[in-house]
Amino acid sequence: MENNSRRKFIQTSLAATAAVTVGNSFIANAIAGEPEAAAFAFKQVPLPFKYADLEPSIDALTNEIHYTKHHATYIKTINELIVTDKIPYKTEKEFFANASKLSAKARNNAGGAWNHNFFWESLKAPSTAAPNGKVADAINASFGSFDKFKAEFTDAATKRFGSGWAWLVKDGSKLKIGSTANQDNPLFDNAEIKGTPLLGLDVWEHAYYLKYQNKRPDYINAWWNVVNWDAVAKRMV
Ligand code: MN
Repeated sequence: MENNSRRKFIQTSLAATAAVTVGNSFIANAIAGEPEAAAFAFKQVPLPFKYADLEPSIDALTNEIHYTKHHATYIKTINELIVTDKIPYKTEKEFFANASKLSAKARNNAGGAWNHNFFWESLKAPSTAAPNGKVADAINASFGSFDKFKAEFTDAATKRFGSGWAWLVKDGSKLKIGSTANQDNPLFDNAEIKGTPLLGLDVWEHAYYLKYQNKRPDYINAWWNVVNWDAVAKRMV
């Protein structure tokens, strides 16, 4: 590409990226200097509910801080790193298939960016709805019953030492439960549990400490009330 048109292309690409990500000032600086085109940018999904909609299971202030501070920072940080470290991966899938090659900072922030998008899209206003149809069938086939599944998932989330996530994944025709440390997820090439993520629970203290303090089991117990089983069903393809 000829130099001027290349610059224009980069500026257009970065402007489009800046419109949907945090960290615009950093990108503006990159444009002013010698720009490096970002191969890819993570985007923060719009929250599919209002902060207070998950009350009393998850309180409004926790949701607000979690979304606007914690999650936004992971997005901003990984998008800056993609530029400064010249990370070449162009999709989330490619990013995580190469997770073991990333720096710890890139791995943690890329995971944090994706995991929280997945987390928000797994939640809805409290209901007594339980999974039905293909989700219920798969859970019953893999774990015996919904209650047994719930007990096993709760156990994985409770016992994850320190910060991390509990996961339900699809691996072939089977569903599996496991957990990961930090912001790792089951798409990582070096994950402790691998498969197609169906459901993920954030058990970092920032996800529950304001309301539940040290009582992680109470948070997990309340979280079941706000799981969006329709979202889980859509992931079962
Ligand atoms: Mn979190």
